[in-house]
Amino acid sequence: MISISFHGAAGTVTGSKYLIKVNNRQVLVDCGMFQGRRELRQKNWEPVQFEIDQVSAVILTHAHIDHTGFLPKLSKLGFDKTVYATPPTVDITKLSLLDAAHIQKEDAEYRNKKKLTRYEEALPLFTQEDVEGLDQHFKSVPFGEWVGIGEEIKFRYNIVGHILGAASVEMVLDDGSKKVSILFSGDIGRYGNPLVNDPLPAEKTDYLVCESTYGGRMHEPEDPYFVFSEIINDIVKRKSILLIPAFSVGRTQQIAYLVHDLIKNKRIPPIKIHIDSPMAIKSTDIYIKYADYHKVPICNLGGKNCILNGTHVELHRKRKSSKLLNKLTGPAIIMSASGMMTGGRILHHLINRLPDPNTTLLIPGFMAEGTPGRKLVDGADIIYIHKQPVEVKAKIVKMHGLSGHADYQEILHWLETLNLPPKKVFITHGEDSQRAAMAVHLKTKKNWDCHIPELHETVEL
Ligand SMILES: [Zn+2]
Repeated sequence: MISISFHGAAGTVTGSKYLIKVNNRQVLVDCGMFQGRRELRQKNWEPVQFEIDQVSAVILTHAHIDHTGFLPKLSKLGFDKTVYATPPTVDITKLSLLDAAHIQKEDAEYRNKKKLTRYEEALPLFTQEDVEGLDQHFKSVPFGEWVGIGEEIKFRYNIVGHILGAASVEMVLDDGSKKVSILFSGDIGRYGNPLVNDPLPAEKTDYLVCESTYGGRMHEPEDPYFVFSEIINDIVKRKSILLIPAFSVGRTQQIAYLVHDLIKNKRIPPIKIHIDSPMAIKSTDIYIKYADYHKVPICNLGGKNCILNGTHVELHRKRKSSKLLNKLTGPAIIMSASGMMTGGRILHHLINRLPDPNTTLLIPGFMAEGTPGRKLVDGADIIYIHKQPVEVKAKIVKMHGLSGHADYQEILHWLETLNLPPKKVFITHGEDSQRAAMAVHLKTKKNWDCHIPELHETVEL
């Protein structure tokens, strides 16, 4: 008996957790945290719908918290087996989870102090100790190498772009009477990104679990170099601040590279990027450590000409130095996390800069429903940070060229090389409207059989 159960990323983009069962052998592909609206976050606290002690391994596609952020909780609940990931994903996951533990601790303390919780006491989902408890369980697997988990399951990772270390997972399942293959897309990256590798084509599979973050959307064809140079030249002219909420992993490094390249080619005057996020600074170190994993070589490691961390970048590790940025005058770029503006140091920059019409806020990618980022994309005049109203007078600019997610055409392009139609495609990791649109594209363009699974649904393969 072979089955798959969808314990997350079904009807939403977060909480990715797919349980594969072959006879009595069970593995979990991704172990993500639900993020965004309160009803979603609440799901992280609900009882787990599978037997944790029966799970032989967790196979991570990449390090983003919506794919890894439930691991410490799983471990706290008794999981003590192997967590497989590509080498960069191991490093980035450990870093991201520690950061998430820290943010949750601070958030819980703040809520308790200000009596902002509706519960007796606000608690973090997991702590630094829970994350450290996982350390010994990680096992890194290079791209392309097959790994067996018992007789029943084997898998390998393939490059899928998106962020450093991100992979699709090709899996072969054998229950003794039949063999089936299943391909997990992971988060599919984009083609032509200046820094991140293009997704490698998928070749064949019986079943496909396909993400659909942008299942119904197409990125506007924009040249990130052109758009970015226009924005920067504008803030230089106005001597203003460009504020960029950026994911510490991926987006920050892409933007640092882009600015380096634009300065080098004299398309913008020299300008400083202030990276105000300890987590982003540490993840840049990981990008430099894995110098061969990018589309462009990262030479002059850490030196003044380093494309990610050269003289165009100023790092702000300490809180004191972060606070001094409140007085910074333009032209300059401040980049801080979190990417969807749900926590972290970006919040104090938003409180400080959003009411200022001379500030430009760049929104460089997808903003999930219910996040402050989404409200700003939707044109809110006021947003609430820690329940306090903040007026939005800053200029809001959206940019899709830096999105880490393929649009539906790019997903179709990635699937073009599959030489057989899969028996079934499970469409996950998208809001319902996006999943439905992706299904329509796959049905009309390829005549593939699509299924939109519900949360906790089990399907026999
Ligand atoms: Zn991701």
